[in-house]
Amino acid sequence: MSRARAEINLAAIAENLKFIKSKTSAQVLAVVKADAYGHGLINVAKAAEKAGADWLGTALLEEGIALRNGGITKPIISWLTPIGEDFKTAINLDIDLSVSSIELLNEIISVGKSLNKAPRVHIEIDTGMNRGGFGDDWGSLLPEIVKAVKANEIKAIGIWSHFARADEPNAVMNKTQLDVFTQKVKQLNDSGVNLEFIHIANSAAALSNEAAHKNIIRWGIGLYGLSPDVINMGDSASLGLKPAMKLFAKLQLVKSVKTGQSVGYGGTATTKSDTKLGVVTLGYADGVPRNANELAGIYVAGKRAPLIGRVSMDQFVVDLGANSLAKTGDEVIVFGDGSQGEYTIDEWAKACGTINYEIVTRIGVRVPRIYSRE
Ligand SMILES: *Cc1c(COP(=O)(O)O)cnc(C)c1O
Repeated sequence: MSRARAEINLAAIAENLKFIKSKTSAQVLAVVKADAYGHGLINVAKAAEKAGADWLGTALLEEGIALRNGGITKPIISWLTPIGEDFKTAINLDIDLSVSSIELLNEIISVGKSLNKAPRVHIEIDTGMNRGGFGDDWGSLLPEIVKAVKANEIKAIGIWSHFARADEPNAVMNKTQLDVFTQKVKQLNDSGVNLEFIHIANSAAALSNEAAHKNIIRWGIGLYGLSPDVINMGDSASLGLKPAMKLFAKLQLVKSVKTGQSVGYGGTATTKSDTKLGVVTLGYADGVPRNANELAGIYVAGKRAPLIGRVSMDQFVVDLGANSLAKTGDEVIVFGDGSQGEYTIDEWAKACGTINYEIVTRIGVRVPRIYSRE
């Protein structure tokens, strides 16, 4: 094999999709933004579609377009589209768009008119996260939306919002946001606009808040077998999810060093005894965070070997221990589901002061994705 690879288990993707389908009567939207959280857009989308995903969703429009051009036939939403995007292609390919400003509404209407086709739109409401979505200006925008729908200038497909703290199931804010959402959906209904699809739940809400399921769940991190929040919600195994990504690299070199030697840039770590060090063929250019500490590492020759010193651009060093049987050229597991004793994605996240989302999403383009159906 090459110096590194990320193995993506498409059977795990399918299982994680079927798992949530079995827990809800809502439709399931597989969130495949950011190259399917680093797992590979088209392969994951196809596996999810085959396993029963009712919708596919991306943030960027170019990913929505790539899905349709890649053969996805289920409805697709792309929800983070600034003014000036290729809405012509989106509308031609029946990609649903999200609207959260009057400027965007007007642009989409005008592109739709030029094509003689009403764009499919989901209206995004800010229910308290204060990120995307119509906020306090909702009252003045509502009549514009009603007008556009009645004039058939847009096809109003859905209304949606997003939770700020769904990964803390006990946070009061979840209820507050849901109440605001319900109230705004009602206002739209009362104005004579009946939207078929109402959606607010991400993975965390899908797993913990049935009242939020409405009729579409947006299943993101759970699709990849990872927990939305290990501390508040438990790890993958306790949630019944199967991590799909396993990262491999190689030992470019194994060598013995004496105790008291500093390792790597800045000499931030020192060997505590005579030991063997291993040079691992991945670095921050591949998405291994530079600030990872010794709570992460690799698995090789039947043992864990913790990181020592700073991660470099293309490599990092691990402390194999004096008795390690690892050899130059050996393949190593950087992370996986932990079933062989390897570090998990959650352990890596903790060692880098971040979340599992960021660990998988940042695995770079230099690392080939290899697909299995274990
Ligand atoms: C990323 C995203 C999701 C999925 O969130 P997870 O926590 O990964 O389930 C859902 N909805 C929107 C709008 C998103 O941007």
